[in-house]
Amino acid sequence: MSERRVRVRFAPSPTGALHMGGVRTALFNYLFARQHGGDFLLRIEDTDSNRFVPGAEEYIIESLKWCGIQIDEGVSVGGPHAPYRQSERKDLYKKYADQLIASGNAYIAFDSAEALEQLRNSYEAEGKTFTYNYEVREQLATSLALSAEEVEQKIAAGEQYVVRFKMPENKEVVMHDLIRGEVVVNTSTLDDKVLYKSADLLPTYHLANIVDDYLMDISHVIRGEEWLPSLPLHVLLYRAFGWEDKMPQFAHLPLLLKPSGKGKLSKRDGDKLGFPVFPLFWTDPKTGETASGYREAGYLPEAFVNLLALLGWNPGNNQELFTIEELIPLFSLERVSKSGARFDPEKAKWFNQQHIQRLSVEELTPMVQAELAKLNVNAASEFVAKVTSTVKDRLVFAKDIWEQASFFFDAPTSYDEKVAAKFWSEDMVKATEDVAQILTSIAEFDTHTIETAIKEYIHNSGLKMGQVMNTLRLLLVGASKGPGIADIIAIVGREEAISRIVNGKNALSK
Ligand code: GLU
Repeated sequence: MSERRVRVRFAPSPTGALHMGGVRTALFNYLFARQHGGDFLLRIEDTDSNRFVPGAEEYIIESLKWCGIQIDEGVSVGGPHAPYRQSERKDLYKKYADQLIASGNAYIAFDSAEALEQLRNSYEAEGKTFTYNYEVREQLATSLALSAEEVEQKIAAGEQYVVRFKMPENKEVVMHDLIRGEVVVNTSTLDDKVLYKSADLLPTYHLANIVDDYLMDISHVIRGEEWLPSLPLHVLLYRAFGWEDKMPQFAHLPLLLKPSGKGKLSKRDGDKLGFPVFPLFWTDPKTGETASGYREAGYLPEAFVNLLALLGWNPGNNQELFTIEELIPLFSLERVSKSGARFDPEKAKWFNQQHIQRLSVEELTPMVQAELAKLNVNAASEFVAKVTSTVKDRLVFAKDIWEQASFFFDAPTSYDEKVAAKFWSEDMVKATEDVAQILTSIAEFDTHTIETAIKEYIHNSGLKMGQVMNTLRLLLVGASKGPGIADIIAIVGREEAISRIVNGKNALSK
């Protein structure tokens, strides 16, 4: 038998911004597809019109693009199974619901929302929970209790109905999950899920999902753990349709946990705990509420992808830094853990710092320039490149440039008093004048020449190396921070360095 082509899908519902857990699901699907030379599909599951949020689909597509997750087939790119948006496939699901009714695996139920509400309440009053299942379905307004004529009459009279799956009573369903191994569930613990609604002529998630996975020839379903409880129903649907030979293999990914390790990382956690939980900034079109995103917080997509990859997966050794391309050959579902993956926002920053270091100065400079432009600092790229290269190892985010290197762009206007008290003295007047003189006269103006000339002068003058160097730093920067003195002088240039030294000396000797 030839091996089945790997075809996986990411099937989000456009109900709002895509949580980072959702992006991880997409990433794992993508890595799996790429590794096996298969296809990665994007299917939009929008059959629940009540939960539809405008802009959510665009947000999903933009998020995947930002992460470098390429869609082979699906919404936004098309393909042989188009359309890939379930609302546009609306008409094809009814016949599958009918097929299940005809084969005795589903039935029609006419209960109104009010009738169900009443039932729930009366059960509750007796301290019980109402479950729509084998115990009640033959006593309710269903095609199992009514005659065929009665059912037809009701439908002809325009009564609304739903199609429910007829969950068998007391059967063990044995399932195999690629991450969790064997999972066994007794069907008596499950209810008769709604598969189709006449009111909007739309299938529910369960029916549309199974039908589409089958029609789109999906070989592996890789999705979040929250869908594990639906697996028995899904497996039984494949059986009921007679599609078991085409049933995909299933893998349920562990939950992402809060930094405390307690509880699921929820959509609301992010801005409450001070880090984003969404890939991109999001404004809810209904409430106007906003949520921060990794992109806008200054994360590189490489860092975001890297941190997601390690939430629930590990390479089997200590390596922690990967690009998406490096992850493709290494990824495996066998190395995905069963237990929840704790998210650590501090570690997220570390990933960004590490990926910043992996960029060349040519790659990093335009990012730094963009951050400077936000502060209305416009400097030549060549100058920004020099600054960037000097402070690169101190950057966690490109935006840190200002904190780390503002003095390259603005001469100091004040001088740290504590530093001045420690290093400034009468004999520094002549020393700084001499250094200014040396800077005027040296022929080459590179770091090495500058450093040699200044050190030689200090050595010959008998002054203290630490005192002169710290004084020069104070005059050049205004405080005791920044890279090497000669680097600073070389980058700001001869004229600017001399002017800072002279101005600083004048200010401090007043
Ligand atoms: N539409 C479901 C979701 O929003 C898809 C779940 C699945 O992958 O089967 O996550």
